[in-house]
Amino acid sequence: MNDPILVTRSSMPDFEEYCAEIRELWDTHWITNMGVKHKALQAALEEYLGVPHVTLYTNGHLALENVLAAMELPAGSEIITTPFTFASTTHAIVRGGFTPVFCDISDRDYTIDTKKLEALITDRTSAIVPVHVYGNLCDTEAISRIAQEHGLKVIYDAAHAFGVRRHGVSAACFGDASMFSFHATKVFNTIEGGAVCYPDDGLVQRLNDLKNFGIRGPEVCAYVGGNAKMSEFQAAMGLCNLRHIDRELAKRKLVTEHYRGRLSGVPGLRLCPEQEGVTPNYAYFPVVFDGYKYDRDQVFRRLAEENIGARKYFYPLTNSFSCYAGLPTAGAEKTPVARHISDRVLTLPLYADLAPDDVDRICDIVLER
Ligand SMILES: *Cc1c(COP(=O)(O)O)cnc(C)c1O
Repeated sequence: MNDPILVTRSSMPDFEEYCAEIRELWDTHWITNMGVKHKALQAALEEYLGVPHVTLYTNGHLALENVLAAMELPAGSEIITTPFTFASTTHAIVRGGFTPVFCDISDRDYTIDTKKLEALITDRTSAIVPVHVYGNLCDTEAISRIAQEHGLKVIYDAAHAFGVRRHGVSAACFGDASMFSFHATKVFNTIEGGAVCYPDDGLVQRLNDLKNFGIRGPEVCAYVGGNAKMSEFQAAMGLCNLRHIDRELAKRKLVTEHYRGRLSGVPGLRLCPEQEGVTPNYAYFPVVFDGYKYDRDQVFRRLAEENIGARKYFYPLTNSFSCYAGLPTAGAEKTPVARHISDRVLTLPLYADLAPDDVDRICDIVLER
């Protein structure tokens, strides 16, 4: 039996590099609560992402919950989003007390279909939470235009889009704010972690309050906040990983090109087209089995038999989760394109150090006669 291939593998610096980075924490005993590593990572990310403000969080999900709270949207209002995403996006909306309204996705890049967006806007709509799925950028221009016309906030779920740029502008720069995840499985990780990126100076205080109990000083509690702070150990991991991000992305590019070389032009296999003017981050390699000789589940089982972990990402759609069965806006039939893709998509293993031989082994099984 060949060695197992997992769907992803966390990027990590050399052990010695991480040890050197955390050495001073043993001198100061300051290991969380916005210490030196936290400050250094925040500054480094503002620079790397080219955005005025970055607020760091202990994970991406709480970053999204907190930025939704920080926008001070009317209680119980409707937020338009897509169901072709990770549970977190929809859960953050619902846990914030809002109603998710599900818009269908584009058949081309699986991001929100802006042609179907306007019809879902009502006088209760307060915001749009689009997702840069697989690192494919949404049609940010159309979204801005619609949001402006209707007075809506735009908060991007950019969990997949670290390092992606369009005409040199990073994915952190669109809308009112963008949430990034630095989870172990993402392109850039801080073990667990996340961030909100935004241009508005007025949000800085509120986002800091929300992640630290609203405590502004030894005797001042100004806001009813929770706890979602990034620790010094997470930030130290981020500082190390950020040093190597360009090399990691270059390696992911090679893996992706190898996959494309083997799987492009095969009838019934659909790969994501590269987006015009966009520098991608090669976060995922989704394949849609549409009219192929095997269906998605057959390929999934064949890979599993060979110890290869592909992922049905995203299946099921969040609007068909059992926890949302009672929600009037739920139901996969309302988003037919998302349902079609979700039933047919598989993301193949992809990480910086995935060997060419392993890519061949995976492709041989997918293509097997
Ligand atoms: C990973 C992810 C999240 C949540 O981020 P965590 O850091 O795991 O909390 C949210 N949305 C999407 C699309 C994701 O892939």
